[in-house]
Amino acid sequence: EYAIEAQGLIKTYAATKTTPAKLALNGIDLKIPRGSIFGLLGPNGAGKSTFINILAGLTRKSAGTVKIWGRDIDERPRDARAAIGVVPQELAADVFFTPRESLNVQAGMYGVPKAERRTAELLNAMGLGDKADAYVRQLSGGMKRRLMVAKAMVHNPPVLILDEPTAGVDVELRRQLWNYVVGLNQLGVTIVLTTHYLEEAQELCDQIAIINRGEVAACEPTSTLLRRL
Ligand code: ADP
Ligand code: ADP
Repeated sequence: EYAIEAQGLIKTYAATKTTPAKLALNGIDLKIPRGSIFGLLGPNGAGKSTFINILAGLTRKSAGTVKIWGRDIDERPRDARAAIGVVPQELAADVFFTPRESLNVQAGMYGVPKAERRTAELLNAMGLGDKADAYVRQLSGGMKRRLMVAKAMVHNPPVLILDEPTAGVDVELRRQLWNYVVGLNQLGVTIVLTTHYLEEAQELCDQIAIINRGEVAACEPTSTLLRRL
Protein backbone atom coordinates (compact mmCIF):
# COMPACT_ATOMS: atom_id res chain seq x y z
CA GLU A 1 0.00 0.00 0.00
CA TYR A 2 1.05 3.54 -0.78
CA ALA A 3 0.69 6.83 1.02
CA ILE A 4 -0.94 8.28 -2.08
CA GLU A 5 -2.00 6.57 -5.26
CA ALA A 6 -3.44 8.44 -8.24
CA GLN A 7 -4.60 6.74 -11.40
CA GLY A 8 -5.72 8.46 -14.58
CA LEU A 9 -6.32 11.66 -12.68
CA ILE A 10 -7.86 14.36 -14.85
CA LYS A 11 -8.91 17.88 -13.98
CA THR A 12 -10.58 20.30 -16.32
CA TYR A 13 -11.46 23.75 -15.04
CA ALA A 14 -14.71 24.90 -16.59
CA ALA A 15 -14.73 27.91 -18.88
CA THR A 16 -15.91 31.20 -17.46
CA LYS A 17 -17.11 34.32 -19.26
CA THR A 18 -13.53 35.53 -19.48
CA THR A 19 -11.45 32.32 -19.55
CA PRO A 20 -11.60 29.23 -21.76
CA ALA A 21 -11.82 25.75 -20.25
CA LYS A 22 -8.44 24.52 -19.03
CA LEU A 23 -7.15 20.95 -18.87
CA ALA A 24 -4.95 21.24 -15.78
CA LEU A 25 -4.28 17.53 -15.16
CA ASN A 26 -4.15 15.21 -18.13
CA GLY A 27 -4.07 11.71 -16.69
CA ILE A 28 -1.75 11.69 -13.67
CA ASP A 29 -0.52 8.27 -12.51
CA LEU A 30 1.52 8.46 -9.31
CA LYS A 31 2.38 6.12 -6.48
CA ILE A 32 3.91 7.83 -3.48
CA PRO A 33 5.57 5.35 -1.09
CA ARG A 34 4.81 5.42 2.61
CA GLY A 35 7.61 6.95 4.66
CA SER A 36 9.16 8.91 1.81
CA ILE A 37 9.82 12.57 1.18
CA PHE A 38 8.34 12.96 -2.26
CA GLY A 39 8.78 16.03 -4.45
CA LEU A 40 6.41 17.30 -7.12
CA LEU A 41 8.64 19.46 -9.27
CA GLY A 42 7.56 21.51 -12.21
CA PRO A 43 7.18 24.99 -13.70
CA ASN A 44 4.40 27.42 -12.81
CA GLY A 45 1.12 26.32 -14.28
CA ALA A 46 2.17 22.66 -14.50
CA GLY A 47 -0.71 21.48 -12.31
CA LYS A 48 1.04 20.92 -8.95
CA SER A 49 -1.38 22.99 -6.88
CA THR A 50 -4.34 21.46 -8.66
CA PHE A 51 -3.09 17.99 -7.70
CA ILE A 52 -2.61 19.02 -4.09
CA ASN A 53 -5.96 20.77 -3.93
CA ILE A 54 -7.64 17.57 -5.09
CA LEU A 55 -5.85 15.60 -2.37
CA ALA A 56 -6.89 18.20 0.19
CA GLY A 57 -10.52 18.02 -0.88
CA LEU A 58 -10.47 21.65 -2.01
CA THR A 59 -10.92 20.91 -5.72
CA ARG A 60 -13.04 18.24 -7.39
CA LYS A 61 -11.33 15.95 -9.86
CA SER A 62 -12.93 15.44 -13.25
CA ALA A 63 -11.95 11.77 -13.64
CA GLY A 64 -9.64 9.09 -12.30
CA THR A 65 -9.09 7.60 -8.88
CA VAL A 66 -7.17 8.82 -5.85
CA LYS A 67 -6.38 6.91 -2.70
CA ILE A 68 -4.88 8.46 0.39
CA TRP A 69 -3.38 5.92 2.78
CA GLY A 70 -5.45 3.28 1.01
CA ARG A 71 -8.71 5.26 1.33
CA ASP A 72 -10.47 6.15 -1.90
CA ILE A 73 -11.44 9.84 -1.86
CA ASP A 74 -14.79 9.07 -3.51
CA GLU A 75 -15.71 6.12 -1.35
CA ARG A 76 -14.28 7.28 1.97
CA PRO A 77 -13.80 11.04 1.67
CA ARG A 78 -13.70 11.71 5.40
CA ASP A 79 -11.22 8.94 6.13
CA ALA A 80 -9.10 10.03 3.20
CA ARG A 81 -9.04 13.63 4.35
CA ALA A 82 -8.23 12.60 7.92
CA ALA A 83 -5.05 10.96 6.62
CA ILE A 84 -3.45 14.19 5.35
CA GLY A 85 -2.41 17.51 6.76
CA VAL A 86 -1.95 20.33 4.29
CA VAL A 87 0.30 23.35 4.66
CA PRO A 88 -0.95 26.02 2.25
CA GLN A 89 1.32 28.49 0.51
CA GLU A 90 -0.03 31.55 2.24
CA LEU A 91 0.71 32.35 5.85
CA ALA A 92 -2.39 32.22 8.04
CA ALA A 93 -3.66 35.50 9.39
CA ASP A 94 -4.57 34.30 12.89
CA VAL A 95 -2.85 37.29 14.40
CA PHE A 96 -5.12 37.56 17.43
CA PHE A 97 -4.25 34.09 18.65
CA THR A 98 -1.28 32.60 20.41
CA PRO A 99 0.26 29.46 18.86
CA ARG A 100 -1.31 27.35 21.61
CA GLU A 101 -4.76 28.82 20.92
CA SER A 102 -4.26 28.50 17.21
CA LEU A 103 -3.50 24.78 17.50
CA ASN A 104 -6.44 24.24 19.83
CA VAL A 105 -8.84 25.93 17.42
CA GLN A 106 -7.50 23.80 14.59
CA ALA A 107 -7.78 20.63 16.69
CA GLY A 108 -11.36 21.59 17.49
CA MET A 109 -12.14 21.93 13.79
CA TYR A 110 -10.79 18.44 13.23
CA GLY A 111 -12.75 17.09 16.17
CA VAL A 112 -9.67 15.97 18.07
CA PRO A 113 -10.75 15.32 21.68
CA LYS A 114 -9.03 17.49 24.29
CA ALA A 115 -7.41 14.46 25.93
CA GLU A 116 -5.78 13.48 22.64
CA ARG A 117 -4.34 16.86 21.74
CA ARG A 118 -0.58 17.09 21.71
CA THR A 119 -0.31 20.84 21.54
CA ALA A 120 2.84 21.23 23.62
CA GLU A 121 4.57 18.31 21.95
CA LEU A 122 3.84 19.69 18.49
CA LEU A 123 4.99 23.18 19.38
CA ASN A 124 8.20 21.76 20.84
CA ALA A 125 8.80 19.65 17.74
CA MET A 126 8.51 22.79 15.60
CA GLY A 127 10.82 24.81 17.86
CA LEU A 128 7.98 26.97 19.19
CA GLY A 129 7.87 25.68 22.75
CA ASP A 130 8.88 28.99 24.29
CA LYS A 131 6.49 30.95 22.04
CA ALA A 132 3.38 28.96 22.91
CA ASP A 133 1.73 31.93 24.60
CA ALA A 134 3.13 34.80 22.56
CA TYR A 135 0.90 36.46 20.01
CA VAL A 136 1.25 35.02 16.53
CA ARG A 137 1.74 38.52 15.15
CA GLN A 138 4.91 38.77 17.24
CA LEU A 139 6.49 35.69 15.68
CA SER A 140 9.14 35.87 12.98
CA GLY A 141 8.32 34.73 9.46
CA GLY A 142 10.10 31.43 10.01
CA MET A 143 8.19 30.79 13.23
CA LYS A 144 4.88 31.54 11.50
CA ARG A 145 5.72 29.02 8.81
CA ARG A 146 6.55 26.40 11.43
CA LEU A 147 3.28 27.16 13.16
CA MET A 148 1.52 26.43 9.86
CA VAL A 149 3.21 23.04 9.78
CA ALA A 150 2.20 22.35 13.38
CA LYS A 151 -1.41 23.30 12.55
CA ALA A 152 -1.45 20.86 9.66
CA MET A 153 -0.36 18.10 12.06
CA VAL A 154 -2.93 18.53 14.87
CA HIS A 155 -4.96 15.47 13.88
CA ASN A 156 -1.80 13.39 13.62
CA PRO A 157 -2.10 12.51 9.91
CA PRO A 158 0.37 9.99 8.45
CA VAL A 159 0.90 12.25 5.39
CA LEU A 160 1.92 15.91 5.38
CA ILE A 161 1.57 17.95 2.20
CA LEU A 162 3.42 21.19 1.71
CA ASP A 163 2.59 23.49 -1.21
CA GLU A 164 5.71 25.44 -2.16
CA PRO A 165 6.90 25.53 1.46
CA THR A 166 9.77 27.89 0.83
CA ALA A 167 8.49 30.10 -1.99
CA GLY A 168 9.86 33.58 -1.38
CA VAL A 169 11.79 32.47 1.71
CA ASP A 170 15.45 33.40 2.14
CA VAL A 171 18.20 30.78 2.10
CA GLU A 172 18.68 30.58 5.85
CA LEU A 173 14.98 30.15 6.63
CA ARG A 174 14.68 27.63 3.84
CA ARG A 175 17.40 25.46 5.40
CA GLN A 176 15.78 25.77 8.80
CA LEU A 177 12.39 24.70 7.48
CA TRP A 178 13.96 21.79 5.63
CA ASN A 179 15.44 20.57 8.91
CA TYR A 180 12.04 20.55 10.58
CA VAL A 181 10.49 18.73 7.63
CA VAL A 182 13.20 16.07 7.73
CA GLY A 183 12.65 15.79 11.48
CA LEU A 184 8.95 15.03 10.95
CA ASN A 185 9.83 12.46 8.30
CA GLN A 186 12.18 10.78 10.76
CA LEU A 187 9.24 10.52 13.15
CA GLY A 188 7.48 8.50 10.45
CA VAL A 189 5.45 11.14 8.58
CA THR A 190 5.30 10.77 4.79
CA ILE A 191 6.05 14.14 3.22
CA VAL A 192 4.80 15.37 -0.15
CA LEU A 193 5.93 18.80 -1.28
CA THR A 194 5.62 20.88 -4.40
CA THR A 195 8.40 23.12 -5.51
CA HIS A 196 9.83 24.75 -8.55
CA TYR A 197 13.30 24.81 -7.04
CA LEU A 198 15.34 21.86 -8.28
CA GLU A 199 17.73 22.47 -5.40
CA GLU A 200 14.96 22.02 -2.86
CA ALA A 201 13.79 18.73 -4.34
CA GLN A 202 17.38 17.55 -4.62
CA GLU A 203 18.18 18.39 -1.02
CA LEU A 204 15.07 16.92 0.57
CA CYS A 205 13.38 14.31 -1.55
CA ASP A 206 13.98 10.57 -1.91
CA GLN A 207 11.89 10.54 -5.04
CA ILE A 208 10.84 13.22 -7.50
CA ALA A 209 8.00 13.43 -10.00
CA ILE A 210 8.40 16.07 -12.67
CA ILE A 211 5.03 17.50 -13.63
CA ASN A 212 4.71 19.35 -16.90
CA ARG A 213 1.52 20.53 -18.62
CA GLY A 214 -0.61 18.34 -16.39
CA GLU A 215 1.37 15.17 -17.03
CA VAL A 216 4.02 13.20 -15.18
CA ALA A 217 7.11 13.71 -17.31
CA ALA A 218 9.33 11.60 -15.05
CA CYS A 219 9.12 9.86 -11.68
CA GLU A 220 12.30 8.46 -10.22
CA PRO A 221 14.52 8.25 -7.17
CA THR A 222 16.30 11.59 -6.81
CA SER A 223 19.75 10.12 -7.42
CA THR A 224 18.91 8.54 -10.79
CA LEU A 225 16.86 11.52 -11.94
CA LEU A 226 19.68 13.97 -11.26
CA ARG A 227 22.14 11.83 -13.17
CA ARG A 228 19.98 12.28 -16.27
CA LEU A 229 19.37 16.02 -15.97
P1 ADP B 1 1.12 24.96 -10.52
O1 ADP B 1 0.71 24.78 -9.11
O2 ADP B 1 2.01 23.86 -11.02
O3 ADP B 1 1.69 26.30 -10.79
P2 ADP B 1 -1.70 25.04 -11.05
O4 ADP B 1 -2.27 23.75 -10.61
O5 ADP B 1 -1.86 26.23 -10.16
O6 ADP B 1 -0.18 24.83 -11.44
O7 ADP B 1 -2.32 25.41 -12.46
C1 ADP B 1 -2.42 24.50 -13.56
C2 ADP B 1 -3.19 25.15 -14.68
O8 ADP B 1 -4.56 25.29 -14.31
C3 ADP B 1 -2.71 26.56 -14.99
O9 ADP B 1 -2.85 26.76 -16.37
C4 ADP B 1 -3.64 27.44 -14.20
O10 ADP B 1 -3.78 28.70 -14.79
C5 ADP B 1 -4.94 26.65 -14.28
N1 ADP B 1 -5.79 26.87 -13.09
C6 ADP B 1 -5.43 26.67 -11.81
N2 ADP B 1 -6.44 26.93 -10.98
C7 ADP B 1 -7.49 27.29 -11.77
C8 ADP B 1 -8.82 27.68 -11.51
N3 ADP B 1 -9.30 27.75 -10.26
N4 ADP B 1 -9.59 27.97 -12.58
C9 ADP B 1 -9.13 27.91 -13.82
N5 ADP B 1 -7.88 27.54 -14.14
C10 ADP B 1 -7.06 27.24 -13.12
P1 ADP C 1 0.73 28.58 -7.97
O1 ADP C 1 1.59 29.60 -7.26
O2 ADP C 1 0.63 27.30 -7.26
O3 ADP C 1 1.07 28.43 -9.41
P2 ADP C 1 -1.27 30.31 -8.83
O4 ADP C 1 -0.60 31.57 -8.44
O5 ADP C 1 -1.24 29.80 -10.23
O6 ADP C 1 -0.72 29.16 -7.88
O7 ADP C 1 -2.78 30.33 -8.38
C1 ADP C 1 -3.20 30.94 -7.17
C2 ADP C 1 -4.68 30.69 -7.02
O8 ADP C 1 -5.39 31.14 -8.18
C3 ADP C 1 -5.01 29.21 -6.89
O9 ADP C 1 -6.04 29.05 -5.93
C4 ADP C 1 -5.48 28.79 -8.25
O10 ADP C 1 -6.43 27.74 -8.16
C5 ADP C 1 -6.10 30.06 -8.78
N1 ADP C 1 -5.88 30.17 -10.24
C6 ADP C 1 -4.74 29.94 -10.91
N2 ADP C 1 -4.91 30.10 -12.23
C7 ADP C 1 -6.21 30.44 -12.40
C8 ADP C 1 -7.01 30.75 -13.53
N3 ADP C 1 -6.52 30.72 -14.77
N4 ADP C 1 -8.30 31.06 -13.34
C9 ADP C 1 -8.79 31.09 -12.10
N5 ADP C 1 -8.10 30.82 -10.98
C10 ADP C 1 -6.82 30.49 -11.12
